[in-house]
Amino acid sequence: MKNAQIEELLKNTIKSKKVVNGYMFSGSGKTKNYDYAKKFAKMILCLSPEDEECKKCKSCLMFDDDNHSDYFEINKESSESIKIDEIRGMQERIAEKPITSSKKVYLINNAEQMTQEAQNCLLKTLEEPPDFITILLVANNENTILPTIKSRCTKIVFTEENVEELSEEEKERYKSLEKIFGNINKYKSIDLLNKLDVLYKDKDNILENLDFINMILINKVKENIKYAKYIDYVEETKTRLKSNSNYDMCIDNLILKIWE
Ligand SMILES: [Zn+2]
Repeated sequence: MKNAQIEELLKNTIKSKKVVNGYMFSGSGKTKNYDYAKKFAKMILCLSPEDEECKKCKSCLMFDDDNHSDYFEINKESSESIKIDEIRGMQERIAEKPITSSKKVYLINNAEQMTQEAQNCLLKTLEEPPDFITILLVANNENTILPTIKSRCTKIVFTEENVEELSEEEKERYKSLEKIFGNINKYKSIDLLNKLDVLYKDKDNILENLDFINMILINKVKENIKYAKYIDYVEETKTRLKSNSNYDMCIDNLILKIWE
């Protein structure tokens, strides 16, 4: 996903008041993950969310001063582990209502550095979070994060890809997928299955094709927020394929979920 597309997705999430309790920012660009998570935190806390460029409400000013009553951050050096005591410290006042904004945001940078104990402790909050809590995890390597944590977070994944930079052959694949996913709501289920035959056949390019699908879907989030959920399904499918799950079943599962 391109930066601008990610930003669009996050803005739409806020405008449509669909902010959930957990997000995980991951992907290749280390700094970018953190920067975007922090930007998202500011947007969630902003007192005039309909004004995209606010920056002047009490919340935005406090945030820019690094002095926001409802924003908490755990940000350790990349060599240090995040221990259970720090997560406990974070949880201590988590049930207290926000003071300035309508939400409280906790950002954990380098979340992959949480010990197993710390992760299990965090999981308790993610299982039963107060409504007003949003936890943003920034993970540069999500392999060490518990699947139970991942499953409770909406994933925001950055890739460096950009349609203009694709080779001719790649562009061709992108365009054929765009024809399908750009009009996905118009297809009847059986047509969709036939059209998506390419996903079953083109095993060599599947991960890239799934990235293309997400690049297409992200543009559709503007039309309808439900496409954000599809992006999650595609990301889940990528994870399953990478862990060598049965290929056809992974694709079946993805298509079924999109139908529903
Ligand atoms: Zn503001």
